[in-house]
Amino acid sequence: MNLKFNSEGLIPAVIQDAITKNVLMLGYMNEEAFKETQETKKVTFYSRSKQRLWTKGEESGNFLNLVDIKVDCDNDTLLIQAHPVGPTCHKGSDTCWGEENSSNFGFISKLEQTILERRTNSKPEDSYVASLFAKGINKLAQKVGEEAVEVVIEAKDDNDELFLNESADLLFHYLMLLQAKGFKLEDIEMILKNREKK
Ligand code: AMP
Ligand code: ZN
Ligand code: ZN
Ligand code: ZN
Repeated sequence: MNLKFNSEGLIPAVIQDAITKNVLMLGYMNEEAFKETQETKKVTFYSRSKQRLWTKGEESGNFLNLVDIKVDCDNDTLLIQAHPVGPTCHKGSDTCWGEENSSNFGFISKLEQTILERRTNSKPEDSYVASLFAKGINKLAQKVGEEAVEVVIEAKDDNDELFLNESADLLFHYLMLLQAKGFKLEDIEMILKNREKK
């Protein structure tokens, strides 16, 4: 890697959570910090205020365990993917911008928001989502069961379009059921993640 360090011998390093992809913090590395990071697999910066190498977490224990290092298009900025141990910001938040390092399922998360919005603000006669919630949780659960059966039926055929559409129905109704029970897809993700650790 032919890194371009600035006039102070530093290169900015954007630190990203390897799983959630959230940006956790920004730091600067000199050549030594860069080597140290690769050798110890703990993200290490050059601290301009301390004027020495600084391994993130050295006092707090909130280390950043290295996963991957990427260099940008013109070799002057690093993207470092890591698994954070605890909150990354010394002020106690997950990111240095005061954010929570929560999972983001992209469009699916937006869909969860839309479901909540319709459920809260729409009349049953104006919204399919609101009408299902109005029928109660048993009806909603039954609907998930029906969609699951439809997926099973389509899985036996080789009509990909039907199979994918029934899968979309199942996921959509399942998101509603989760929400009716007070949960989000993130809660399920947590359970799966914990199983992986065992
Ligand atoms: P730590 O590296 O987590 O043991 O924290 C040691 C010291 O480094 C803290 O007291 C702060 O002065 C500084 N520090 C820790 N985390 C950050 C951060 N994300 N951004 C800026 N300074 C930090
Ligand atoms: Zn660049
Ligand atoms: Zn911070
Ligand atoms: Zn269906």
